Amino acid sequence: MTRAQIANVDLVKQVNCSAVYRLIDSRGPISRVRIAELSHLAPASVTKITRSLLEQGLIRELEHQASTGGRRAISLTTVTHPFHLVAVKLGREELRLTLYDLSGRAHARHVLPFPRREQDVLLPALHRHIADFIQHEAAGLRLMAVGLVMPGLTDAQAGRVLAHPCYPLAGVPLAERLGASLGLPVFIGNDIRAQALAEHYYGASQDCLDSVLVSVHHGVGAGIITEGRIFKSQGRDVAEIGHIHVDPLGERCDCGNFGCLETMVADAALLRQARHMLDQGYHSSLAEQELTMGALCRAALEQDRLAVNILCQAAERLGQVMAIVINLFNPQRVLLSGALCEAESLVFPIINKAIRHQSLPGFHQGQVLIRARFQDDQTIGGLALVKRGLLEGELLQRIMEQKS
Ligand SMILES: [Zn+2]
Repeated sequence: MTRAQIANVDLVKQVNCSAVYRLIDSRGPISRVRIAELSHLAPASVTKITRSLLEQGLIRELEHQASTGGRRAISLTTVTHPFHLVAVKLGREELRLTLYDLSGRAHARHVLPFPRREQDVLLPALHRHIADFIQHEAAGLRLMAVGLVMPGLTDAQAGRVLAHPCYPLAGVPLAERLGASLGLPVFIGNDIRAQALAEHYYGASQDCLDSVLVSVHHGVGAGIITEGRIFKSQGRDVAEIGHIHVDPLGERCDCGNFGCLETMVADAALLRQARHMLDQGYHSSLAEQELTMGALCRAALEQDRLAVNILCQAAERLGQVMAIVINLFNPQRVLLSGALCEAESLVFPIINKAIRHQSLPGFHQGQVLIRARFQDDQTIGGLALVKRGLLEGELLQRIMEQKS
């Protein structure tokens, strides 16, 4: 066989193997016969692939009484607990590391300050922190990979950073560089897009194939999941909804334009509005306390006029943009993540009303905004990136090639 033919055979093996693993992961416990029916693979191929998956400990057999009576049937299910991974968030001057097992359970978490620095010292420092974490928390465990998320823009397919708001990483093939120094596969991606995937695999949109997560925090972003995958264009990031123009006379945004959504509804924007009004002499319970998103939400829930007005206006703007997203993608579910979810009983009805009035009736029918599950877990996206590597075959193939 030529080299190209060998590469083709390898690719077919990888595609078939991941198709079988995906079916066991999503439909398990499932019989080999049913896998063959659903995957359209020959029963002999299914037997061969499941044998390899069993040898690697990625799946196990369950014996149970067949519904038709008679001899006992064997079903297959995935094994998650022995497989561990390190999820990293390279945030804004902060590094978060979590050790998860593949079921989504977190076993250890570290949070460290990570100041801005030049690239030549940044990469060795990042490597050292991850390697130390592995040494302290994951010694002796079966570690599959590292999943690293960050704000900014990434080319996840190429493992390359396009822009980070704090660190000089533009153009750096971070997955390859870290992977080589750590001796582990590394997957990178944008934090919000990866959180949307985590909600799909483990959280509030597990039961739908098409969903949108809108996250309001330092900025405003979205992750769009279509057919169970992050919607993207040629490996580039999309869904930068924070930079949709909503106010012709708005403030200047970090992106250089004026009146972007995030200049009006991101945490910093809401706190800035509150501070401005307080300085003007508006009466509010917020005058006597430290101004935080938590304080703003609590004051709004206690009917503080100033806090209520600020959050209602933000919810209307957010609803307006969410209606646009719903008209574009017609998702089965829309999730919201961010500190303003603390005022859910005030904010959600306003967003839902805007969605009802401003998106196509057929698109928002039965659509109710839901709070994302992983509000407080900033590294969860790293777990999702590794799980995606398994389900889509790339990481699965590497594990299958290891000696069990
Ligand atoms: Zn902008």
